[in-house]
Amino acid sequence: MPIQETEAVLIRSYPLSESSVIGVFYTRDFGKVRAVARGIRSTKSKFRGQLDLLNRGHLIYTEKANRELQIVRDFDLIDNFEQIKTDFDRFSYACYFAELIDAIESDGGENPEIFSLLMKTFCYFRVVGDLQLFARMFELHLLEITGYSPQFARCSDCGNVLTSQDSVLYYQDQTSEMVCAACVTPHLVQISRGSCELMKRLQRSNFDQLVRIRASRQNYREMKFVLSALINYHTQRRLKSLKFLDLVEKS
Ligand SMILES: [Zn+2]
Repeated sequence: MPIQETEAVLIRSYPLSESSVIGVFYTRDFGKVRAVARGIRSTKSKFRGQLDLLNRGHLIYTEKANRELQIVRDFDLIDNFEQIKTDFDRFSYACYFAELIDAIESDGGENPEIFSLLMKTFCYFRVVGDLQLFARMFELHLLEITGYSPQFARCSDCGNVLTSQDSVLYYQDQTSEMVCAACVTPHLVQISRGSCELMKRLQRSNFDQLVRIRASRQNYREMKFVLSALINYHTQRRLKSLKFLDLVEKS
């Protein structure tokens, strides 16, 4: 059985038995990896304090051929992102980011871009001011990497280019596509051109450019609607951490 070594972030964990847990890691080299940490609940366990949610570390695991579940050999902590975990709002968002990656990515299938996005996200998220705008930027970047990016360029019905004169609309049935004014039906929800432009800007901007971007209440509301619909459509589920986020965003 080969031993694998890589950098990883613990994006989810759940109990397997009284003494063991299953950790879901997002790794730099192997994508999403599910592995058992045995004896973690023992006071003498070398994993104690190491395998907390969102911790980043150097992971060593035994890979079992044709098995979904691997075995954790070692996890050497690099960063526990304490500044995020000690702030309820930041921690709620960070859990959502981890849960979203878990939901949108299947096991295996390496994608170093997602690992890199996760690292940049947690580094910037310790100090960023506008958490909500940052979250929309994270969603847009993740959707782009995974190939689920929203399309703002053409009407999904007639194929015409959406111009700045168009009253851009969004499907209510969560098919995540825009249509032009000529193709409007009564079941569509209107999204302002400004919010579409803002999403395009967030898509092509880096995290360090976020401080220069401003959003109105209408932009926040519309972007959340569009991106939540798109994410629900592609993950086919309502993420648990979104319940906490709804509380945070309303407060
Ligand atoms: Zn059209």
